[in-house]
Amino acid sequence: MKKIDQILKKELETIKNQGTYKNERIIETAQEDEINVLGKKVLNFCANNYLGLANNSEIRKAAISAIEQWGFGLGSVRFICGTQTIHKELEETVSNFLNMEDTILYSSCFDANGGLFETILNKEDAVFSDELNHASIIDGIRLCKAQKYRYKNCDMVDLENQLKESTARIKLIATDGVFSMDGTIAPIDQIVKLAAKYDALVMVDDCHATGFIGLNGKGSGEHHNVLNQVDIITSTFGKALGGASGGFVSASSNIINILRQRSRPYLFSNSLAPALVVACLKAFEIINNDNGLISKLHENTHYFRKKIHEIGFEVKGDSHPIVPIMIYDAKKTVAMSEMLLEKNIYVIPFSFPVVPKDQARIRVQLSSLHTQQQLDYAVEAFHDCGKSLNII
Ligand SMILES: *Cc1c(COP(=O)(O)O)cnc(C)c1O
Repeated sequence: MKKIDQILKKELETIKNQGTYKNERIIETAQEDEINVLGKKVLNFCANNYLGLANNSEIRKAAISAIEQWGFGLGSVRFICGTQTIHKELEETVSNFLNMEDTILYSSCFDANGGLFETILNKEDAVFSDELNHASIIDGIRLCKAQKYRYKNCDMVDLENQLKESTARIKLIATDGVFSMDGTIAPIDQIVKLAAKYDALVMVDDCHATGFIGLNGKGSGEHHNVLNQVDIITSTFGKALGGASGGFVSASSNIINILRQRSRPYLFSNSLAPALVVACLKAFEIINNDNGLISKLHENTHYFRKKIHEIGFEVKGDSHPIVPIMIYDAKKTVAMSEMLLEKNIYVIPFSFPVVPKDQARIRVQLSSLHTQQQLDYAVEAFHDCGKSLNII
């Protein structure tokens, strides 16, 4: 064995001993409300498939016809020969949806966040980042030379104290729109107020909100009625907007233009495949035309949160389809998820280090695909498992 393999093998054993080793579950079907896992049909409560568009027939058709018309791949980055009419159309569609001047596409939101901060900020500037921000924001900030501040999760007093202290040229507040372990929506209304008071910009990563949070699905800014006061929005096509992949930044045309000139994951990585682009256009068409989808998701969210609370579980978060059901004890949480799987309910247990110690939970994610019958079945299963494990 080479030295590196010996070292890594040890490290892998350490991860296994700590109980945080991840085994990937294999799903044997398309992404739906019901999927096959380990050869049996289970109810799926752990996908980011909020609007059920991941295997939507119109979106599938759009992707297939895009391959026929625009080809499979581009074999190029955007600025060489990788920009088709459809890429500009998708950028314009996102800009219109979010009421922003311009939009730039990336292969993922991870790349969008990775290429944002170092391009627009330098050492005269400062960035204020929520402590629970997504790994891609943390990495993006690491790459930039700005002064770095970290405020306590959604703690406006802490954020204000830090803003007060800074004399930086540009101040940028960066936050997740939704914190995905807790299902909480960031207080964007209070954040934009502080930003106005201290002449700061606001960047929101709305991956767990774009397409379904807010009356028209425009995200956490719309939810708080301050969408037009958010300066920079990053998000993904890999969750509600079809669930395949791709990401973007929407902002003023100057910000987007400088990203096109200098943002490294944009300049040095391949163009989005045509099938993805056209399918994402279709996703926006569906969302813009059919508000029933969004209201069904919110109905499901409201119903499930209420029922699970009624049977005695503690539930974290706001009115978001991420429903963290608090078990606290890590071992019980794993036992619970295994028992639920026996009842054909597929959910994921989260424990340390993904969430704080003694804060273990089962995270249920709802979709507009779920029927009330499926939700009732799940609530009953949670009830039975919770009773037999003495959790409720
Ligand atoms: C999922 C997610 C990302 C990553 O998006 P990808 O397009 O899959 O790279 C980034 N930020 C947040 C908050 C997310 O939830």
